[in-house]
Amino acid sequence: MEPNQESLRIRITMDLAEQNETIGLGLIKKSSKSWMDLLAVFVAVFLTLFYYVYDVFYVMPQLLGFFGQAVHFVVSTWIVYNILGNLRICTKTKNSVDTLPLELLKPVKGEENLWHFCDKCQRTVPPRSWHCKTCNVCILKRDHHCSFVGNCVGHNNQRYFIWFSFYATLGSGLAFFDNILFALKHGVQGLSIFSINSLLINEYFNPGTSNIGLQCQIRVVLWINLCAVIFPGVLFCTQISMVRKNSVMHNTSDRTYDLGVWRNFSQVLGRRRFWTFLSPNIESPLPHEGTQWPSKHTHTI
Ligand SMILES: [Zn+2]
Ligand SMILES: [Zn+2]
Repeated sequence: MEPNQESLRIRITMDLAEQNETIGLGLIKKSSKSWMDLLAVFVAVFLTLFYYVYDVFYVMPQLLGFFGQAVHFVVSTWIVYNILGNLRICTKTKNSVDTLPLELLKPVKGEENLWHFCDKCQRTVPPRSWHCKTCNVCILKRDHHCSFVGNCVGHNNQRYFIWFSFYATLGSGLAFFDNILFALKHGVQGLSIFSINSLLINEYFNPGTSNIGLQCQIRVVLWINLCAVIFPGVLFCTQISMVRKNSVMHNTSDRTYDLGVWRNFSQVLGRRRFWTFLSPNIESPLPHEGTQWPSKHTHTI
């Protein structure tokens, strides 16, 4: 080996060793989740389990016979399995640039100009990677930080976030339908279904004519349920809109990486694409590691 080649090899080895140290620091920083993330994940899990138990074991026995309850139980259990399964993997999956194998921590020949320098991490990072203040690392194809999954949504876990928000909307929608039927069965009618004021006024003028505890419970459950439909529903629609044009939430109008709907979804859902809808445990490898991004003009992958 010639002397200048040898010195280059030594320099690269030292750079990688330095980056290795940074990896260690990055992981230590990331392990300290913010209290907001922990609280939000707890709320997501608690609400999922609460509405599952409430509807399957309390509401349904008052509305359906044995066969209806059995079908409802199977459907609800499958939805909850997908909510919690996708949430768990989305939370645990690492997206940071630090998790890349050493050989991918530098640009391939000809792509040096696509990488940019991160002031916080003090290193060059791949295209579409952005620094997250909460995680305190650069995230591969960062979409946004979501406290309800306690993690950044990015290259490696966007699939799980999409199906988590989809099943959370579906499950909340089903629970909302059940709870409306339950409210109607207990004599709640029209717009009073969401009003506690009319209930309290009625109780004031006609004390003891209704079960005030049950009536309040029905309304509180419905109000929270409605929020639990709208919030993940908006998230899911936003995600589909982003993936359809291969953009991210902090730059929604960017169409640089738009390769057509089919390929755009493959980059997020992996080789099995929409089959990943069935379960978070379906293997669906992504087409690349998140460092080389083919654009409209360079179909390199
Ligand atoms: Zn950074
Ligand atoms: Zn983050």
